[in-house]
Amino acid sequence: MNQFTPRITCDHQAPGEWPRDFDCRQAYAEQQELLDPAFVNLPADRRPVSARLVIANWKMHGSRAHNTSLISNLLPALHGIEGVQIAICPPLPYVTQVHDLLNDTPLAVGAQNLSERTQGAFTGEVSGAMLADLGCIFALVGHSERRSLYGETDALVAMKFEAALRAKLVPVLCVGETIHQRRAGNTNAVIGAQLRAVLQQVGIAQLAQGVIAYEPVWAIGTGETASPAQAQAVHSYIRKQLAAHDAAAAARIPLLYGGSVNAANAAQLFEQSDIDGGLIGGASLDAAAFAAICKAAQA
Ligand code: PEP
Repeated sequence: MNQFTPRITCDHQAPGEWPRDFDCRQAYAEQQELLDPAFVNLPADRRPVSARLVIANWKMHGSRAHNTSLISNLLPALHGIEGVQIAICPPLPYVTQVHDLLNDTPLAVGAQNLSERTQGAFTGEVSGAMLADLGCIFALVGHSERRSLYGETDALVAMKFEAALRAKLVPVLCVGETIHQRRAGNTNAVIGAQLRAVLQQVGIAQLAQGVIAYEPVWAIGTGETASPAQAQAVHSYIRKQLAAHDAAAAARIPLLYGGSVNAANAAQLFEQSDIDGGLIGGASLDAAAFAAICKAAQA
């Protein structure tokens, strides 16, 4: 099922340049044959609007033993869930282990970060092509911890989004405002600027090949969740911003909510009309809690 061997065609172009034989649609078509047909990893114009996506972000947690135990508890707990693409983003050293543990399941593996570069003398960096080579389908870009702790700017995040597409990964663009920005009434302005940087870099058609995760910074890892109405308001704003460029693409791009989602609050969040799933941090480290969230995501 999830046996995806990507074609790697992106090793010689200059940064920011698309490889000549890059064919996003064909690559995505190849991928989707290997995934559940209800899942969202489809070209934007073939994606079922009702499909849901839930992504686990394990952050810097885990060990080989812990990962084995977590996945072996998770898989039976997910039994019977339909119409939800589930992906796990483990720490980089465990991508292969988790990919192997998920072999023969419809769950996908993703990365938490990638380099904006294609290859070369960039010590410590990991390219999108390498992640695809390991079997990653998704790559988070611009998570707020990357932005705030590692100085990732909107421009750098946009380059990483493009780098993920070049490697035929599905980029998951994380956007969100701090509590100060929200209190100052700047939420939409901040989100708008984060989106614009990526739109300017790749355009709406390519942006729509990815996923957007709205993660208010004040809700990440704090136990304080945006209310369903607060989350819906920002999701609706994002959808409208994208619709100004391409209404069909905007209607189909999955918009995830992230920020202290748990088994108790997931259903109400997922009921909102513009919330298509979740990006889950802390609760994804607990098999029962994460399975309950995935269950709540069923349309
Ligand atoms: C995250 O890291 O993306 C996240 C949403 O974390 P948490 O669920 O722990 O708030």
